[in-house]
Amino acid sequence: MAEADIILRDANIVTMNSSYQIIPDGAVAIKGEEILAVGKTSDILTSYVSTHILGCQGKALLPGLINAHTHAPMTLLRGLTDDQRLDVWLLGYMMPVEREFVSPEFCDLGTRIACAEMIRGGTTTFADMFYFEDSIANAAAQIGMRAICGQTVLKFPSPDAESYEDALNAARLFIQKWKDHPLIIPAIAPHSAYNCTEDILLACTEIAVKFDVPILTHIAETRLEEDQWRQTYDMPVVPWLKKLGFFEAKVIAAHCVHVDSGEIHTLEHFSVGVIHNPSSNLKLASGFAPIIEMLSEGLCVGIGTDGPASNNDLDMFEEVRLASLVAKAVTNDPTALPARTAFAMVTILGAKALKIDHLTGSIEAGKRADLILVDLNTLHAQPAFAHDPDSIYSRLIYAAKSFDVTHVMVNGRWLMRDRVLETIQEAPLLEAANDYAKRIDVFLIEREGSVLSKLIAIGDATQGESYEVQIKVRIPDTAPILEKLTRDHYEIIRTAHYLEYDTYFTFDAPSENRLRYREDEFVDEKGNVFNVRYRLTLIGPAAEHSYPNFIFLSRSRFIAPAIHSLRFYREYFKPSSENEINKDRLRWLIRYKGEDFFINVDTILQPKIEGHFLEIKSRTWSRVDAEEKAKLIPILLEELVGDESTPVEMEYPEIALSEGKPQA
Ligand SMILES: [Zn+2]
Repeated sequence: MAEADIILRDANIVTMNSSYQIIPDGAVAIKGEEILAVGKTSDILTSYVSTHILGCQGKALLPGLINAHTHAPMTLLRGLTDDQRLDVWLLGYMMPVEREFVSPEFCDLGTRIACAEMIRGGTTTFADMFYFEDSIANAAAQIGMRAICGQTVLKFPSPDAESYEDALNAARLFIQKWKDHPLIIPAIAPHSAYNCTEDILLACTEIAVKFDVPILTHIAETRLEEDQWRQTYDMPVVPWLKKLGFFEAKVIAAHCVHVDSGEIHTLEHFSVGVIHNPSSNLKLASGFAPIIEMLSEGLCVGIGTDGPASNNDLDMFEEVRLASLVAKAVTNDPTALPARTAFAMVTILGAKALKIDHLTGSIEAGKRADLILVDLNTLHAQPAFAHDPDSIYSRLIYAAKSFDVTHVMVNGRWLMRDRVLETIQEAPLLEAANDYAKRIDVFLIEREGSVLSKLIAIGDATQGESYEVQIKVRIPDTAPILEKLTRDHYEIIRTAHYLEYDTYFTFDAPSENRLRYREDEFVDEKGNVFNVRYRLTLIGPAAEHSYPNFIFLSRSRFIAPAIHSLRFYREYFKPSSENEINKDRLRWLIRYKGEDFFINVDTILQPKIEGHFLEIKSRTWSRVDAEEKAKLIPILLEELVGDESTPVEMEYPEIALSEGKPQA
């Protein structure tokens, strides 16, 4: 008789071994972290003794579930903002809040909450990618969960790295620290192709290959990503990554929603683990991953909840049920993804996708003891039919709930017994989470109240010069001015010709500024557009002095490159109204009596406005300088147009409103 540390007896064992063996009235003997033997209770008890024998009362004994893609600390951002498009959700809310709040303590707390929720729902392994991954690994290891932890690398500054070089260094140190840990597998996590550069992806591949650790990433999550790649590189993202050599590493790719048959073949060829996230894909309307085609091609497809801010929970029972139902609906085939295959995706197939099937994913001698007990003797999971031995899978997938899980063991250690968590105290975690929620509320309420805060929150806004001196006059004809500017030997520093497409957002609050989204098309001498620039400018109300013949003012101006679509900014800033003005602008930068001035000769094209406008303007940080410039403007104006001009005090949006006619 050999000695076991623990024997679990009288269980209905769903082994998920290669023959999908089910052992009614089964038992498992465990020693240390490992499963010693699996078999009939009577057989196990004749070969093994133990001082710790648990009668399982006919409950289902299953391999622990695998949540193959999540961002655990986002439990603290659960419900922060919902019902948004992915870009507004991610770039407008998640990332700004993350930049402000994510810290090692945040990640520790968020991970502990995630682990408590996952253990309660029968998850024993999770794959994570986030920031301060060391805190996440540390919390998971202390609690006793198995985890693949990927240190995130992005092309832009993140909460834990000023630059991507810093992120790569952090990933190297993280991997070295956690390599060979019994529960944690360190990984490197370039967020996605679109949030990285070729150099970053290559560096990540090199690190992953060198240390023999997996790469966690997001691939082809949205149609937008796929379209961008086809437009920019003339190929979808998967072949592009292949060309780069990215798949030389062990890649685990979340989503793969928008991949065609060729890409599925490539993923299979390079043994890429694909992780399907049905709740997240449904909630963000990303589309339907072709998992039936992937599975029939032989790809290992696991299931993940994705982060709890886009799901919004970490319930693998719900996730696997959705996976099965959605697969049937989109293929119009009720035989698609039967319960047994679905259950494999959250156990053995998930383990294969994560490349850890030598450790976990099935109940077999030699594997780590990652086990859960599920009580199916409930109203919602009864009765039990015996005519089909596989019917237990349908009870598990279509009827069982996460709260039916009573016991959870990882690596031979109990994490939950009779629904009581053994390694986590929940009450203090909830209190701390609500504390964060209050602080995040204060941040968001303040931010939502100001267009400027919202602009700054999405990054790269810089403040423009505080003083702007300007005069605008209406002119009947542009020819005399153009002639003067060339004939009268002004010192011309630069000239340019643009077509400007402006959308002005206005806001209800009278204190609010006006936000301009501008597309500048640069036109060459032959009239061809050779460059386009997109900018956002937040224009504060003009203050200070207004003089009879010219305007001297100061105002706040914040400028940011507009890297997202007009639609993104509309949904993010939620203006109360907007208007569009298109104009043709000839611009000179001249030096006049030692000062620099811009001269704009503008023709409003849309809405149609009679005549043309001449603007003379200059910007400066210095008030004294502004006053000097203000004195020169009337003189320069007189030189250029004589007194044949009418000063206009209104700005273009007001002019357009009062006299614009829609283009015929
Ligand atoms: Zn994700």
